[in-house]
Amino acid sequence: MTSETKKKSKIAIAGGGLLGRLLAWRLSQQKFDITVFEAGDLSTPSGACWAAAGMISPLSELVRTEKQIYVQGLQSLKLWSEWCTQLESQTGRSVEFRRAGSVLVAHGKDRNELLQFLRELQGKLGESAKEQVESLNSQALAALEPALGSFEMGLYLRGEADINNHRLLPLLLNVLRQRGVTLRERTPVSCHQKQISFAGEQQQFDCVIDCRGLGAKEQIPGLRGVRGEVMVVESHEVVLQRPVRLLHPRYKLYAVPRSDGRTVIGATQIESEDLSPISLRSSMELSSALYSINPAFAEARIVETRVNCRPATEDNLPLIQNEEGLIRLNGLHRHGYLLAPAVVQQVEEQVAQQLLQVA
Ligand SMILES: Cc1cc2nc3c(=O)[nH]c(=O)nc-3n(C[C@H](O)[C@H](O)[C@H](O)COP(=O)(O)OP(=O)(O)OC[C@H]3O[C@@H](n4cnc5c(N)ncnc54)[C@H](O)[C@@H]3O)c2cc1C
Repeated sequence: MTSETKKKSKIAIAGGGLLGRLLAWRLSQQKFDITVFEAGDLSTPSGACWAAAGMISPLSELVRTEKQIYVQGLQSLKLWSEWCTQLESQTGRSVEFRRAGSVLVAHGKDRNELLQFLRELQGKLGESAKEQVESLNSQALAALEPALGSFEMGLYLRGEADINNHRLLPLLLNVLRQRGVTLRERTPVSCHQKQISFAGEQQQFDCVIDCRGLGAKEQIPGLRGVRGEVMVVESHEVVLQRPVRLLHPRYKLYAVPRSDGRTVIGATQIESEDLSPISLRSSMELSSALYSINPAFAEARIVETRVNCRPATEDNLPLIQNEEGLIRLNGLHRHGYLLAPAVVQQVEEQVAQQLLQVA
């Protein structure tokens, strides 16, 4: 068989959330025949990916997680910037990937939270802390983020970024459609080596990639859901330029502004797989933390609330399992946007290795 007549390797991707879409997009640039199986509707995503705020914060996360998350986060930041440029040229639309850093603040009485955070970050970053983290006095803070004028100090984490997931996910879907990727919606599947099964049917593939998030719970021991709640508010009076985090002993908050004047605020982290609507307590805590950043938020309108569960492993680290004809990736927990490109790139390499013999 000449290289032109070789049969394309068939890949099944189970789950059309963040990992599934990103992987399908990347692999569709190579000569593979790809089918995506999604339990729900791809145009109204139901996974954790849609509820997320899209923060890409390797530095903020470094203080509370393993160094691996930071390292893979930096790798992902670089990839996001390349991949978003590609996706924008393929679709002619902006993904709204913003690399404007993020700002951390704490109220006067919680100043120690901020100082402790800075000490821990400096301890972990060593010399490079100087380039990556800047302490701001009230004037410097007001110049960078005028809406935070009432705070005495803040920290500017220069390299952090965020992405508008409500633009990214539909754009990825558009490109998959344009490229002729087979999309099987409303089709919940089970994953096996080289085989997908659903509704009493089996289909054979050269490789199956399981990206079902919490949907893979039965096959991945210890996988659990961690409930997260966010609210979306609209304010004409307060405009933030970049993600802002409020450090507080009890009520932690981030606020991620979007280009349409809306701000995503969140997120709770509750050890529960309950998917019922946001609780009164969570909505009050998020609202009052936001109001404490700038009282002009009092007139903001709550336009949406979102609840979903982050897929997390026992050690809260990403999981990539590779056996012949079946790759499982999962456990991105609260780091889906932070880590997805690095994880996807690793899997792309494994797929190429597995299928080299077949192609
Ligand atoms: C409130 C909240 C805020 C968050 N904020 C951030 C943030 O700011 N930054 C960040 O980095 N991360 C954030 N995350 C985490 C991030 O959203 C997740 O880590 C990420 O979405 C995980 O991606 P995934 O593709 O593994 O799973 P998902 O995005 O959940 O996708 C899994 C997909 O598989 C489908 N599926 C399930 N079962 C089956 C089946 N049997 N057959 C076929 N398909 C199936 C589901 O319908 C879904 O579409 C947040 C999460 C939440 C809940």
